[in-house]
Amino acid sequence: MVFVVTGPSGSGKSTILRHVVKDMRRMAFSVSHTTRPRRPSERDGREYHFVSEAEFRRLAGRDAFVEWAVVHGHLYGTSRAEIRSKGRTGDVLLDIDVQGARQIRKRLPGATTVFILPPSFTALRRRLLDRGEDEAAVVRTRLGNAKAEIREAESFDYLIVNDRLDRAIIELEAVVLSVRCRAENRKRAIRAALSGRMA
Ligand code: ADP
Ligand code: 5GP
Repeated sequence: MVFVVTGPSGSGKSTILRHVVKDMRRMAFSVSHTTRPRRPSERDGREYHFVSEAEFRRLAGRDAFVEWAVVHGHLYGTSRAEIRSKGRTGDVLLDIDVQGARQIRKRLPGATTVFILPPSFTALRRRLLDRGEDEAAVVRTRLGNAKAEIREAESFDYLIVNDRLDRAIIELEAVVLSVRCRAENRKRAIRAALSGRMA
């Protein structure tokens, strides 16, 4: 199953997802492609596949992406191959923006969408500044885009307020567990319980 996690920059998506991937069995992170410059703390192939704009457009032209968008001035996309390979052993978590979430809703209607909300705009600004990985102009662009993103929050299946990190992690894990437990997603368990001769 596919879980889409969206929220303004600095709302805590990457932090929450890192914990959830570590805590949960059969859960993988979908590594997107991007043309954004790599941050000092990032490694190619771990947070993103960092590619040139020419390479990104070549992949998009070959329909390699299940969704892609221009976000804060750079190109970002989820490759079909990534979802296929990561989905082979379990569920996949996508950290993508509101435009990407809209595309996934259309193309993968079974996907579950989750919006991560910061407790306040002031906290969002503080977190972006304290993260200290983006220049002041980049932080300004991201804060400038945050309100338009937050206005779309109601169209998501679930909403998590990332006030206390430990609670936000538990809430996302609860969403994943509840979707996994839906009877329609448990057909294999039903078949297994019915297989073999009944006593
Ligand atoms: P995003 O991936 O949504 O852009 P990050 O996960 O990078 O956001 O989080 C932005 C900053 O906020 C990071 O420095 C992170 O450590 C911090 N952060 C995340 N969640 C919380 C929280 N609940 N309380 C305080 N700081 C947080
Ligand atoms: P960042 O540059 O902070 O890692 O990410 C900026 C924004 O791009 C975030 O909102 C993040 O969710 C989004 N993003 C990351 N990967 C993808 C992707 O593959 N597709 C889309 N549409 N957005 C993405």
